[in-house]
Amino acid sequence: MGRFDSLLAAQNRKLDLEGALIARDRVGIQDFVLLDAYTSETAFLDNLKKRFTGDLIYTYIGTLLVSVNPYKELDIYNKKQMDIYMGVNFFELPPHIYALADNAYHTMLSEANNHFILISGESGAGKTEASKKILQYYAVSCPSSAILDTVRDRMLMSNPVLEAFGNAKTLKNDNSSRFGKYMDIQFDPQGDAVGGHILSYLLEKSRVVHQNHGERNFHVFYQLIEGGEEDLLRQLGLDKNCQHYKYLAQGEYSTVSAINDKNDWKTMRNALSVIDFDKADIEHLFGIIASVLHLGNVHFEGDSKGSATLLGHAELRWVSKLLSVNVQVLQEALTFRKIEAKTDEVLSPFTVDHAIYARDALAKAIYGRTFNWLVNRINQSLENQVWRPCSILRKNVIGLLDIYGFEVFHVNSFEQFCINYCNEKLQQLFIQLTLKAEQEEYEAEGIGWEPVQFFNNKIICDLVEEKHRGVIAVLDEECLRPGDATDLTFLGKLEEKMGHHPHFVTHMLADKSTRRTLERGDFRLLHYAGEVTYCVVGFIDKNNDLLYRNIKEVMHHSKNSIVRQCFQSTESESRRRPETVATQFKNSLLKLTEILMSKEAWYVRCLKSNDSKKPGHFDDMLVRHQVKYLGLMEHLRVRRAGFAYRRRFDVFLQRYKPLCPATWPHWRGPAAEGVEKLAQHLGYKPDEYKMGRTKIFIRHPRTLFATEDAYEI
Ligand code: ATP
Ligand code: MG
Repeated sequence: MGRFDSLLAAQNRKLDLEGALIARDRVGIQDFVLLDAYTSETAFLDNLKKRFTGDLIYTYIGTLLVSVNPYKELDIYNKKQMDIYMGVNFFELPPHIYALADNAYHTMLSEANNHFILISGESGAGKTEASKKILQYYAVSCPSSAILDTVRDRMLMSNPVLEAFGNAKTLKNDNSSRFGKYMDIQFDPQGDAVGGHILSYLLEKSRVVHQNHGERNFHVFYQLIEGGEEDLLRQLGLDKNCQHYKYLAQGEYSTVSAINDKNDWKTMRNALSVIDFDKADIEHLFGIIASVLHLGNVHFEGDSKGSATLLGHAELRWVSKLLSVNVQVLQEALTFRKIEAKTDEVLSPFTVDHAIYARDALAKAIYGRTFNWLVNRINQSLENQVWRPCSILRKNVIGLLDIYGFEVFHVNSFEQFCINYCNEKLQQLFIQLTLKAEQEEYEAEGIGWEPVQFFNNKIICDLVEEKHRGVIAVLDEECLRPGDATDLTFLGKLEEKMGHHPHFVTHMLADKSTRRTLERGDFRLLHYAGEVTYCVVGFIDKNNDLLYRNIKEVMHHSKNSIVRQCFQSTESESRRRPETVATQFKNSLLKLTEILMSKEAWYVRCLKSNDSKKPGHFDDMLVRHQVKYLGLMEHLRVRRAGFAYRRRFDVFLQRYKPLCPATWPHWRGPAAEGVEKLAQHLGYKPDEYKMGRTKIFIRHPRTLFATEDAYEI
């Protein structure tokens, strides 16, 4: 269906529903831009709260969608609702995530360009739920056929698989994303979803071997133990009690009331079949999950010389069986280090601490690499439709970005540092694309403009990522320095380099009152979303992420095909030091920014309504804080003073010239004059539009929709 057909169909549906919907939406104001009174923060919050209390969790700021997590199921995500929103102009119905998804889709089709939807907000604000709703909307609303249904099912089913392996219960969120995900949904020119591609970002691997009190390991472990059939568990050497596994028992929270591991296991198993995993893949995959649990139960004790000896031969035998590696060689790799002498290799025994370190490093490596393998495998299955004839035609994409949200815990470590840096980068992108670019464009186009002040978090991004001077550069320098580098020498270097940076402080640099709140091994960053104190313990190790060479070699000779693919030979033979974790992450975010900058942006800003996951409870202070740091008031100010729509003169003229006798069928003068004629003919009032140097700017979307309606008639 073309845009205009679908508009007509939608128009009829809309008439039926209008009465009911408008009555519903009398609660508060559905778009902050449209009402004069809503420029103060208090009024803004009042409106959000009023709507939230009436179960209206969505509100617009122009085309940006603000969403407040209701922590309860609302009856607004179903086929009937999807039908209502399909093909309807953005502002004609109450705000909804479906409206945003639909508009991105139709704009992509009519303008034949690429889009992305940036979903942001802190941990637990509802980003992953929002991204799932968008994907479901495309799955249901796009044209259907047997082949397309396969792609669609696989795209939908990639979610339970990746969530099982990449999400976990944290203190902030029972289903917290512990990896970043960017998913391109590819559409052909008819609007059919023909394929997809996923990029994943830095999985929080350390969770495999350690969880804080009240947190869990990745869901998949509990799913296997709770949901796995008896036969399967027997083959894997597992019993039904999570408390028997050290890697699951530390958080002391193996069951969570909001999570049904048994059901989730069934969903995940079914999803693996839909994605077309064969029997061998599945067997090897489950073997790996079980091997990690057994590995956690392998212990060591010191002999008279202090060297580590193995306790738990049975566990190690299970590991070697499941990973299909030789048990003696594995034991040697976990208790000795291979050191290259001039002409020979010698084995040097580990202390108990070293052996534990090597064991945990292996568990993290196996799990982390398997996760990447999983993403690649899913990508293959989303791509295998390329033989369709339409696939040789142009394809456009809508990218969905759902990344771990900003988080602050009682103790914050390297993982929070990476996650919060990532959020800092996304905020910077938002600022660049909206507040900054928007104002620069008015200036470049010569449109009279009163600048809006906003806090630019570039200073914090620079503090973290700047070459030679940023936190990551200092950390890398310490990691690469031979000799006695420790977490504390890293902290010392930071203090030297950062000096009195306004967004950085440590115990030594702090004034008297701040010093009381800081430990000696901490550094504090003043992030855009608030201050976070990081404990440096583990920074060097986690950034190095070293895996001893002989352990890699053992894995490389595994007969488990997934493990073998994860430990390619070139790597174990390579002498070059790999990039550190933080640098890899920084580079991957740089690439992501480039991908996003080349596309047209849509924004969903998710807000957390309260900190205790309480249904329908609106914590004023908490929401106010998020409204502030997300820059929503500034965005509103720019939007209110600005123009919702802009197009190059030639593009605008080309599209709407049939509406005016002076421009139809040909306009021979300069495009700007043609546009001016059109605007006058259409009766645009002087304050509704402005002519820039190369573009026409239209203040309200309603003006444009009226023009679109005229076009249809
Ligand atoms: P993180 O950064 O930790 O991954 P997130 O922003 O992705 O957090 P979600 O996992 O999407 O957060 O949401 C947390 C929980 O909030 C969900 O498991 C769900 O219970 C509830 N929730 C979020 N959005 C909605 C919604 N639209 N309707 C009902 N409940 C919701
Ligand atoms: Mg999430």
